[in-house]
Amino acid sequence: MENPQNTFPCDCGAGQVVLKTALRSKTNVGRLYYSCPNSKGKDFGCGFFRWVDESQEINMLEAQLMIARRHEDSAAIQQVSDQLDGLLVEDEG
Ligand SMILES: [Zn+2]
Repeated sequence: MENPQNTFPCDCGAGQVVLKTALRSKTNVGRLYYSCPNSKGKDFGCGFFRWVDESQEINMLEAQLMIARRHEDSAAIQQVSDQLDGLLVEDEG
């Protein structure tokens, strides 16, 4: 079983991912997720995001966001960010 306290280096090299709690979402209040150490508010840093217990919906959006960022597609980044923002809110920042 995965230990949520075990973080790991983010793909972007900014350091260890950070563990956060989703405070506002349709179905995932209180769930833990890993995020890029550079993430603040609506900015997901390099775009890395993963539920500790995995959520297909969020992980699919996260994958889309990483691709959009890689292509520097600002319209797609905004669209996917808005969808992610509707599913969760950070507990700090
Ligand atoms: Zn990162």
